[in-house]
Amino acid sequence: MSEFRVMVIGAGLGGLCLAQGLRRSGVGVTVFERDDALLTRSQGYRLYIDPDGDLILRGALPAELYELFRATAGYPPLRIVKLDDQLNETRVLEDDPDETPISVDRRTLRQILAEGLCDHVVFGKRLVRYETSENGDGPVTAHFADGTTATGDVLVAADGINSVVRRQYLPHAQIMDSGVRQVYGKVPLNDETRALFPEVMFNVFTPLVGSRERYMGIGPHQPHEPAAQAAARLAPDAELHDGGDYMACYFGARTERFPHEDLRTLTSPQLHQLALDMTTDWHPGLRAIIEHWLPEAVFPLTLRTSIPIPAWPTSRVTLLGDAIHAMSPAGGAGANTALRDAAALAEVLARAATGEPLIPALRAYEAGMIDRGYAAVRESARDGAERYHQNPLPAA
Ligand SMILES: Cc1cc2nc3c(=O)[nH]c(=O)nc-3n(C[C@H](O)[C@H](O)[C@H](O)COP(=O)(O)OP(=O)(O)OC[C@H]3O[C@@H](n4cnc5c(N)ncnc54)[C@H](O)[C@@H]3O)c2cc1C
Repeated sequence: MSEFRVMVIGAGLGGLCLAQGLRRSGVGVTVFERDDALLTRSQGYRLYIDPDGDLILRGALPAELYELFRATAGYPPLRIVKLDDQLNETRVLEDDPDETPISVDRRTLRQILAEGLCDHVVFGKRLVRYETSENGDGPVTAHFADGTTATGDVLVAADGINSVVRRQYLPHAQIMDSGVRQVYGKVPLNDETRALFPEVMFNVFTPLVGSRERYMGIGPHQPHEPAAQAAARLAPDAELHDGGDYMACYFGARTERFPHEDLRTLTSPQLHQLALDMTTDWHPGLRAIIEHWLPEAVFPLTLRTSIPIPAWPTSRVTLLGDAIHAMSPAGGAGANTALRDAAALAEVLARAATGEPLIPALRAYEAGMIDRGYAAVRESARDGAERYHQNPLPAA
């Protein structure tokens, strides 16, 4: 193990993927996570992983963990049919029998990414600020809410959309409210609930557009093999949460359509009732789906996006994923982009650990990350404007 030390703030998808990549290259890495445990916070349900994201996971994870990821993934048909609120099919948006999309349960993926990293992840460490040496050439010190500090050669902000690091480092990099609110729910699939969903909803994703800027999205997650069973077969040390088969759903609308601006003030059962109250004119089949949402698992989301900024001078503090280029979920691209960042950064840090000059290596990483990340932000904002009526990004 080299002396070179990387500090990663945040054990989300990007931070953990980076740590796996660095560990494989023998680079010293510690991830500092504010939560007390990996699954303290449920951060949503299923994610769609694109072919690049799949390749990155194959490169970052040990073979048995990559196999575990593939075994616990679902493989729904790549067909997207738009419906209206009376369940009429209005348009086929995508249909490609040759492509196999990958759906994963977010918690399962995070558990797989954390596997084998127990000596490298410290929980209960909320970063409050960091300090660089006077000439910027020396180590970086991280300060945590519990009064402790840690020091390393590089500090990586993988701390998500509300990044404390970004606020200190690039205070001009702003996050904007997209003017849209969503309520997320999930229906566990069993013989009774399966019958609620028309066949078309078992495709990778089904968008549904209602009148008055209301909409819904539905996507299945049916793992190829139950997570606990696959773990017992492939990685017995991994204790995976068994999420079962389910349908992930969301109801959304422009903010002004909701009776409350801040949906976070409502409890899960209140949010559930709100989704029902706002869809009284929808097809009874759709309302039956909402009625079957697990009431305690309903959560709200304010759609926010980063506003792209020009490149900044490179230093020993760098960023990845939502910490710098959070985007509308409309494109299903945020996690995939964070994984791409993690892979690119792991590569340059591994070279720096063997003596390649650090700052030029980080500069090259940031150039690619900024291009890729902000292209995804712009595209997701365009998709969000079309699909969710979200506010456009300010003109450059
Ligand atoms: C509902 C929803 C659905 C989505 N669906 C998709 C999809 O299908 N496909 C896709 O590609 N993307 C999707 N995304 C986007 C994706 O979830 C994010 O882009 C992705 O999680 C970003 O990863 P990250 O590692 O950058 O940040 P996060 O996953 O947000 O991780 C940040 C981590 O940092 C920790 N942290 C925060 N502050 C501190 C601090 N001060 N100190 C220490 N730790 C801290 C947090 O606790 C967290 O663990 C979706 C997002 C949402 C909300």
